Amino acid sequence: MRTAVVVGAGLAGLATAGALSRCGWHVVLLERAERVAAPPTALVLWPNGRRALESLDPDGGWPAIIAPLPDGGVRRPDGQWLVTPRPGGTGSAPGAVHLQDLYDALVAGLGDLVEIRTGFAVTTIRTGPARRPVVGDGRTEIEADLVVAADGIDSAIRRTLAPESLAAGSGFAAWQAVVPGYRVPSRPPGEVAGGETLGAGYRFVSIPLGDRAAGRGGVYWVATAAGAPRPESPATQLDLLRRWFAGWPSPVGDLLAATHPEELVPQEVRELRPLPRAYAFPSGPGGVVLLGDAAQAMPHHLGQGACLAFEDAATLRSLAGQAAPGATLTAALEAYSRLRQPRATTVVRQTRRMSAVVQARGRLALRARDAALSHLRPRILSAPLSQWSPPD
Ligand SMILES: Cc1cc2nc3c(=O)[nH]c(=O)nc-3n(C[C@H](O)[C@H](O)[C@H](O)COP(=O)(O)OP(=O)(O)OC[C@H]3O[C@@H](n4cnc5c(N)ncnc54)[C@H](O)[C@@H]3O)c2cc1C
Repeated sequence: MRTAVVVGAGLAGLATAGALSRCGWHVVLLERAERVAAPPTALVLWPNGRRALESLDPDGGWPAIIAPLPDGGVRRPDGQWLVTPRPGGTGSAPGAVHLQDLYDALVAGLGDLVEIRTGFAVTTIRTGPARRPVVGDGRTEIEADLVVAADGIDSAIRRTLAPESLAAGSGFAAWQAVVPGYRVPSRPPGEVAGGETLGAGYRFVSIPLGDRAAGRGGVYWVATAAGAPRPESPATQLDLLRRWFAGWPSPVGDLLAATHPEELVPQEVRELRPLPRAYAFPSGPGGVVLLGDAAQAMPHHLGQGACLAFEDAATLRSLAGQAAPGATLTAALEAYSRLRQPRATTVVRQTRRMSAVVQARGRLALRARDAALSHLRPRILSAPLSQWSPPD
């Protein structure tokens, strides 16, 4: 039987492990944490990410957990519309999903052939023309035809195989939270659910989740500020956010007021610079691939990181799912690299344009940003990226 080791049980690793097992591979899924657990946040799935998920597992029950995302428009902190909401959508409507629901669905899709080992932190990878790739944690070594590095931005495997690519701060900090349905502030009549407000170096996005998201519904929000992450306690950081975003149009203040400190997920926004030159590394009788944030971590401004991880998984499944170990599998992995590296480069380039929009400060820069915004907002920048379909 063909064997694969998938390193990392985040979104990328769970999706890939399930897809390979459904193609008949025996998969060992290694996770350094003591259990597989979703962060208490949510994310946007653009049509490309959703298409990839659906192709990975057509029976995944996706419509039940992905809520359509209304176009809430973009405002300035003084309330003036920069981009008015379009309730009909733009034709490439994204969806929103609570990560708890997404993880549950992906774990349910793992099937009987996936062996999950938690508390296993991979520290070494060995490859060579005459041997199958081997990963180890300093005590145990595991060998397989295919090793999938889905171990996130600090990937130990990428650091060995593509040392040119380094994780670096992108000059932003982000705070996320989900306000559960029973605590969501009521909306004034006529106010569009969700939307985005852009200030000078600050951004606040709110996204309604379905009524049943994570069993209790709610609203997800993500605040971004140019600058370093804060060292203070979550309670102090929440106070700081309430001060920074004071006076911003509804529902910003109400959502921050309704958030509890223990719900706040603060983090530094990081990215890979440069991207790895290759996403596949041949070995006998197959090789190693990079996937998800291990391959292309980028700032979240366009909300494409997880979407790309699902594209990676769907591409790998299409190219290598049926490949026999040996030269055929190695060729399939090289084809994966040739498709995925340029795709990630394109998305990173668009994300950098959006970074400049979020980072704009100073009167002239803001005026230029406001004038350009109808071409530069996430829905417009993501529209061409959303065209992606899995290879046959
Ligand atoms: C604020 C914010 C908002 C975002 N919004 C969106 C959005 O709206 N839409 C979207 O598509 N994307 C979004 N993203 C990006 C998205 O969250 C990531 O791209 C995605 O979660 C990456 O998944 P991953 O599985 O590749 O990596 P990770 O989630 O980092 O998972 C890696 C896993 O590997 C494990 N691991 C790490 N090292 C080892 C090791 N050595 N051995 C074993 N296991 C290991 C980790 O414990 C973890 O479980 C956002 C990101 C941020 C920060």
